[in-house]
Amino acid sequence: MNYMTIIARGVLILPAILLMSALACGGDPTPIVTSPPVAPGLLRVASTVSPITSIVENIGGTRIHLEGIVPEGTNSHTFKPAPSVARILADTDLIVLNGLFLEEPTLEMAGANKNPDTVVLLLGDRSISREDWQFDFSFPESQNRPNPHLWTDPMLALRYAELVRDELVRLDPSNAEYYNGNFNAFQARIIELDRGIRAVVQTIPIDNRKLLTYHDSWAYFAKRYGMTVIGAAQPSDFSEPSAQEVAHLIDQVKEFDLPSVFGSEVFPSDVLETIARESGAKFVDQLRDDDLPGNPGDPRHSYLGLMLQNMEIMIPALGGDAEALAQFDPSHVFEGDSRAIYPQ
Ligand SMILES: [Zn+2]
Repeated sequence: MNYMTIIARGVLILPAILLMSALACGGDPTPIVTSPPVAPGLLRVASTVSPITSIVENIGGTRIHLEGIVPEGTNSHTFKPAPSVARILADTDLIVLNGLFLEEPTLEMAGANKNPDTVVLLLGDRSISREDWQFDFSFPESQNRPNPHLWTDPMLALRYAELVRDELVRLDPSNAEYYNGNFNAFQARIIELDRGIRAVVQTIPIDNRKLLTYHDSWAYFAKRYGMTVIGAAQPSDFSEPSAQEVAHLIDQVKEFDLPSVFGSEVFPSDVLETIARESGAKFVDQLRDDDLPGNPGDPRHSYLGLMLQNMEIMIPALGGDAEALAQFDPSHVFEGDSRAIYPQ
């Protein structure tokens, strides 16, 4: 399909996004976004986890049809796409994944179903070399699969955005100026976020600049901002840690006198609560690594909002002050409403 020809003819139909309310188990109204029809002429892009979908959305804005695959609030590490996802992958021009072994079943499905011309972009694999792979408790070197959460370092998220920009420009050169403009705006926002995070981390007493989390997603963040990940509770097979491992973690929290330990929204677990109780640390269970805050359409429902909210939770819990980020704008950088599909 020649996008430029179709766009030039002016056959642009805005996709209708149907927002319906449904009752979630807690009784709160939760929006369900159904797939809008693809506007003729728009480049079609599929992406996996929500932080990556948000980065792609910031660059592609309203000029691409963007559909996320991994529903928010699910374990992306063990996620297996439903058979219906094969149709999205077969019907798209660009498939964006984190890579670094995070989305193997989706990558396999893409290989089996995609159009031969469809580009598969593995952002993590293209952003760092093997020497920069981080290994830890949940992602041990013995398995030769690195910690894949590169986006917790905003500068690596910027590298993701750059790779996406390059691919969008290559596939859809008629919108190159638009994609470049969005990239430049996103870059400015990332630099502001990076400076803000550096400033708020400095407010944490040096001895408290340590993280013990349930889900092990902070390796690249810690490396960039001079923090130490002293451990994680979740084993590499995403089961629960053994009694011995729990005892070891309790000893570590006591030894380092950590004020708080952190759980994750996606992985409710009693284990970290036990560790907190036994060690005297506070249990903070609201960190997020790949489900965005709020609902689609909210300004904070974005990669930038994810990082901002994590800082607002993490920094005070370690004895610091997140005030330097109070004015940070987490909304998307392009004009117009979000039209990306975030499966819930
Ligand atoms: Zn994760």
